[in-house]
Amino acid sequence: MLIPTVKEVPADAEIPSHQLMIRAGLMRKLASGTYTYLPLGFRCLQKVINIVRQEMNKAGAQEILMPSVQPIELWQQTGRDVAYGQTMAKFTDRHGRQNVLAPTAEEVVTSVAANEINSYKQLPINLYQISFKFRDEFRPRFGVLRSREFIMKDAYSFHADQKSLDETYKVMYDTYCRIFKRCGLDYVIVEAEAGEMGGSGSHQFTIPCPSGEDIIVYTEDGSYAANIEKASVDPLPKEKSDAKIPPIQEVHTPNVGSIEAVCSFLKTQPKDMIKTLIYTVPGVISESKKSIGKELAKHSGDKVTVGEPIAYQEVAVLVRGDHDVNSEKFTLIMGGEHAELADEQTIKEVTNAKVGFAGPIGLADKVDKVIIDHAVTAMAVGVAGANKTDYHVRNVVPGRDFPLEGQNVIVTDIRNAVEGDTYRGKKLLFKHGIEVGQVFKLGTKYSSKIGCKFLDENGQEKNCTMGCYGIGINRIIASAIEAGNDKDGIIFPISIAPFEVIITPLGVESEITQVAEKIYEQLNRAGIECLWDDRDVRGGVKFKDADLLGIPVRITIGKKSVAEGNIEIKLRTEPNSQKVSIEQAADKTCELVNSLREKLNP
Ligand code: ATP
Ligand code: MG
Repeated sequence: MLIPTVKEVPADAEIPSHQLMIRAGLMRKLASGTYTYLPLGFRCLQKVINIVRQEMNKAGAQEILMPSVQPIELWQQTGRDVAYGQTMAKFTDRHGRQNVLAPTAEEVVTSVAANEINSYKQLPINLYQISFKFRDEFRPRFGVLRSREFIMKDAYSFHADQKSLDETYKVMYDTYCRIFKRCGLDYVIVEAEAGEMGGSGSHQFTIPCPSGEDIIVYTEDGSYAANIEKASVDPLPKEKSDAKIPPIQEVHTPNVGSIEAVCSFLKTQPKDMIKTLIYTVPGVISESKKSIGKELAKHSGDKVTVGEPIAYQEVAVLVRGDHDVNSEKFTLIMGGEHAELADEQTIKEVTNAKVGFAGPIGLADKVDKVIIDHAVTAMAVGVAGANKTDYHVRNVVPGRDFPLEGQNVIVTDIRNAVEGDTYRGKKLLFKHGIEVGQVFKLGTKYSSKIGCKFLDENGQEKNCTMGCYGIGINRIIASAIEAGNDKDGIIFPISIAPFEVIITPLGVESEITQVAEKIYEQLNRAGIECLWDDRDVRGGVKFKDADLLGIPVRITIGKKSVAEGNIEIKLRTEPNSQKVSIEQAADKTCELVNSLREKLNP
């Protein structure tokens, strides 16, 4: 068997799972973000896939398989050819047709359903596939945690109404709990933003661990847990102010633009600064926006073409200097449109100043919208940009020096939660996590655009209501390793370990080999997956490899103990082994394996 374990840690492997998957010979890198699974890695993959498939089938979902190469026209119908940006890989075929390498499959499955479903009698239906997805990630890293090509289980449900969607969503939610429990993962479920998918509700299944790229925000009592993308915060209490704050005062701050630079120059702190960010909110001109006409077209002359990207709004966002704008909250406020930081030219036009000197005073008259974070309105006084190159202003009082209400002024929660924040009065805590799965209530976003309709009981035509449910198969393996490892190697949950038992004979003498073979056969007959290390190498080498591979149970057959009629059984998680007679070896092993399997039963 090809199990090329190595001692060296690959230079580009920053986290334990990535290092160990290479060192244990589970996989090898081909190019940035693409990996070959070697026999043991492939076995892990198959095990995860089996668990996922069994649970999906049990939940009444039906497996299908959709193409990875998809015509771009389908993506144009939903506007996601643009929304997915450069993450979506495209190519032109020999006939000049543009294709997409599937990053996901809402468009395709909806077009399938549009053709096959016509009556409420066919609903609800839940279709899923387990297939390769390709995303040209900006920064592939951490091995298979964020790769470019990966295996996803993606399911899509179609419903006559919201109530039916809610039911299936609950079934999928519970199914995900069973899947992750069976895979041996300690997961945390968090409220999530639907992001690119759209729709009205979403949860993520995350594995807490330091290398996770997601931040989970939660309360100690467990009453609230959300991805930071979504996490709400209570408004801050209004700061007390000295009775009289002097009028604003302009200060010369030559070439001092960043928050840090201003703070050290003016001897103030980020929390006492008002940060003003100018965004443009680009959109795609849809038929409905076309009717907005001139207003919409003010940045691109009078020409308005449906389907074309256009920047049509300038939006200023005010947050405290130590806070960050939350782009998901921003997108929601903008009705689903993604904002981008304005370019230098636009900032100059709007603020009359170089980048770094934008401020809130007089801004409401210069931009289409001003969005003010709650925390800014709670400030007694602050320092801000002066809308004049190389100048800031002190003694800026929100409400006195710039308006907190008005036709184009919105006061809301638009920042990321930070240490010290509360939600519903409870302190918020933070930890990193890996997103292994996500479920979404999509509503009619895709069905309405692709024309996926059905006739209801009254013969009326309606758009299908949809849900979608994704799981990253490869990420499950990597996160199980992130959560389960020690200085010697991987500690696999038994359900996804490449083998359940490893037999390590110490020597190749026939009396040893005979015992090994006997136990190997007995265990195989008992339905236990067994790896027999029959290499002619030193015992130390075998033990090191067995630990590195993380196989849960090890049976050691030594010359001396065989002479005494014994073998040794050891759990990967325990320091010591136990002596068992050769006759009882198989039974005892079955017992151990069964108890390990049992623990992962939902
Ligand atoms: P992320 O926020 O981590 O980029 P996503 O939210 O874009 O992921 P989904 O569209 O929800 O991902 O995809 C479903 C699942 O596919 C995710 O929960 C994750 O487990 C997996 N997945 C997504 N992107 C990758 C990737 N680049 N490499 C490995 N697995 C991935
Ligand atoms: Mg996701």
